[in-house]
Amino acid sequence: MGDTLFAKIIRREIPADIVYEDEDVLAFRDIHPQAPVHVLFIPRQPIATLNDAAPGDAVLLGKLLLAAADYAKREGFAEGGYRTVINCNEHGGQTVFHLHVHLLAGRPMLWPPG
Ligand code: C5P
Repeated sequence: MGDTLFAKIIRREIPADIVYEDEDVLAFRDIHPQAPVHVLFIPRQPIATLNDAAPGDAVLLGKLLLAAADYAKREGFAEGGYRTVINCNEHGGQTVFHLHVHLLAGRPMLWPPG
């Protein structure tokens, strides 16, 4: 497994406020929340960026999105709405090179994003 911060969170080497996990996916609160709800959904499998996802990862990518949507429904903000974001590489604003889906909610989102 790679040695990113998120790999350390998966291995429980650094703390995180974990809100969901299953055999493929882990979700935890972002330490610098950009909205009242800001949760990161990551695969246990270390994929650095969306560019590195292969056709064989299609089910895993779907599981990440479904885990985010299920969380939104469970927590009661699905109807009100939310945003999911995957940042990729420098222009996408990616800072941690372990693929992750941001789930942001609890306030109206702006468009276009900055
Ligand atoms: O998409 P990007 O790579 O920029 O997102 C990384 C996210 O990981 C940031 O929102 C940052 O606040 C979060 N983070 C975290 N816990 C850490 C390190 C970073 O929640 N230990």
